[in-house]
Amino acid sequence: MSGEVDIAIIGGGLLGLATARAVLRAHPGASVAVLEKESRWGAHQSGHNSNVIHSGLYYAPGSLKARLARAGGEAMIRYCEQHGVPVKRTGKIVVATAEQQLPRLDALAARGRENGVTVARLSRAEIAEREPHVAGVGALAVADTAMTDFGRVCLALATELTDLGADLRTNSPARSFTTSRDRTVIDTPDGEVRARIIVNCAGLHSDKIAEAAGHRPPVRIMPFRGEYAEVRPARRGLITNPVYPVPDPELPFLGVHVTPMLDGSVHVGPNAVPALARQGYRWRDVDVRMLGELLRDPAVRGLARRYWRYGIVEISRSLIWPLFVRDVRRLIPEINGEDLRRDGSGVRAQAVTSTGELVDDFVISRTQRAIHVLNAPSPAATSSLFIGSHIAADAFDRLGLADIARTVRESATGS
Ligand SMILES: Cc1cc2nc3c(=O)[nH]c(=O)nc-3n(C[C@H](O)[C@H](O)[C@H](O)COP(=O)(O)OP(=O)(O)OC[C@H]3O[C@@H](n4cnc5c(N)ncnc54)[C@H](O)[C@@H]3O)c2cc1C
Repeated sequence: MSGEVDIAIIGGGLLGLATARAVLRAHPGASVAVLEKESRWGAHQSGHNSNVIHSGLYYAPGSLKARLARAGGEAMIRYCEQHGVPVKRTGKIVVATAEQQLPRLDALAARGRENGVTVARLSRAEIAEREPHVAGVGALAVADTAMTDFGRVCLALATELTDLGADLRTNSPARSFTTSRDRTVIDTPDGEVRARIIVNCAGLHSDKIAEAAGHRPPVRIMPFRGEYAEVRPARRGLITNPVYPVPDPELPFLGVHVTPMLDGSVHVGPNAVPALARQGYRWRDVDVRMLGELLRDPAVRGLARRYWRYGIVEISRSLIWPLFVRDVRRLIPEINGEDLRRDGSGVRAQAVTSTGELVDDFVISRTQRAIHVLNAPSPAATSSLFIGSHIAADAFDRLGLADIARTVRESATGS
């Protein structure tokens, strides 16, 4: 198979699919191909996450994350409602389990308010009223949180894209790139795809794709696995809505939370341990070549120096089950080891700077004919429809369609 398109998108997760949708809705005459290396859509981060539509509580005011999360979440809820994807506004609470966490809880409340999120402070007694099995000295109630199934969102997007005329290709890894004056030629097992613009939404492989396409990425992707446990059915009643700990402000992860899914199951997690392969869903998934590359990389050595204490705690908690259970018991003291069983994982594509810092905000690198999404951590699933619009606008600029770019940008809040 060979193809000539305006825009080729590498990666069929939420961001790749949402970008294709934004392009074709704004400009039905455009030709768009989406190349996904797996046999299904949303096979990695987009199909292995907590399924929470976030409110915008946590993010630094003014950051791209903060600007896109709040309105992006509302857009995602509407999308689910309109496309038959299960969605439920649940709200959530963020619980301080010790007095010394209260200043951080208050700082979080202030940040949330600055971001336009509705938050209310709960006393110990008010926590007990809402979640009688949860222990806390204080909490924040956050109204604008919802649950969905992001895997189903990917399927809905793919169905919509078929109707919009996209060239959708699964089992189609982008293997190499050749760039001429006005085209990038992408080699796939089914033949070449020739594109005026390429959009790299390859998640865990996005730095490698950027390099292969001739761009030097400003960050490196470090895979961080998030492991989950499931609460046994008889104990699902221990909570009614999502319960989160107070996050560590030094880290871009939210901490192990307890989340009732829409199918009735209750999940605990995710933690954050370094994965030993880009798709390292288990400890035994080891990519020796990737590890060699990472160990030689000064950025990763800097990361190890900066976060080694946190790393040891997280790795111990992953390998030593009672430590994992102990942390969950801080939030729900009645839970014990028999109430939980390990239940899958997701791997985060987390960007690290050359000096070894974990990057918190989204990172999108642009060249004349390529757009590379190099950090799209949580809440990128929540904000994916708006991120897709921003990327689509950038692509239109590169195609010389400035008017369409402006309209698309204006339709996505945060512009
Ligand atoms: C454990 C965990 C929990 C999370 N919880 C939440 C949450 O509750 N709420 C929230 O908003 N966000 C959450 N996130 C973040 C969210 O899942 C991601 O931000 C989002 O899914 C990123 O989407 P993506 O399209 O960039 O990446 P992905 O979904 O990873 O898609 C990238 C795609 O590129 C494909 N690909 C790679 N290389 C190639 C190639 N050479 N050729 C073709 N295709 C290629 C991959 O197969 C993959 O399908 C969580 C993430 C994790 C890991």
